[in-house]
Amino acid sequence: MYPSSNTSLVSMKNNLVSKKVEVFVWRAKWERLPVLSELDKRGIDVNSVLCPLCGIDIETVNHSLLSCSHARIVWQKVRDWWGFDSANLSFDNLLRGCVPSNCSDLGGQIWQAVEWICGYLIWKNRNQKVFKKTSWTPPNALSEIQVLSYDWVAKRCKKRKNRMT
Ligand SMILES: [Zn+2]
Repeated sequence: MYPSSNTSLVSMKNNLVSKKVEVFVWRAKWERLPVLSELDKRGIDVNSVLCPLCGIDIETVNHSLLSCSHARIVWQKVRDWWGFDSANLSFDNLLRGCVPSNCSDLGGQIWQAVEWICGYLIWKNRNQKVFKKTSWTPPNALSEIQVLSYDWVAKRCKKRKNRMT
């Protein structure tokens, strides 16, 4: 199923992340990331549709970004960092940014940005594993997510603050 209007694009906006992260989230939402099961569906000859990281399940967008054991370790670390429960991890929550109800609007937006950056880096790591045969260790993953989140979010919050003054 593909979006029929621009409204789906609008909902994939978060001005605390870069355009490439928004595009990544949009592609993930509409299952347009080139995971092996999608390539296979389109008739592209792939040796195996099993996840290149865990080698256990079929590689779908949901598997690659959320349910793969490698992704789950990274999500666990990011949620521990924020003090959030990992139990309600789902693709919908990832897209919406699932925040506790007492979180401010900006807090919610920042958490959504961190989640999107985390998904983006999980996908980048998957590609590095497939194409360059290198991949993260979970502690390195967390520090990369923290550094990138801080850099991008702080830069954009500052821009926004400057616009308001
Ligand atoms: Zn996997």
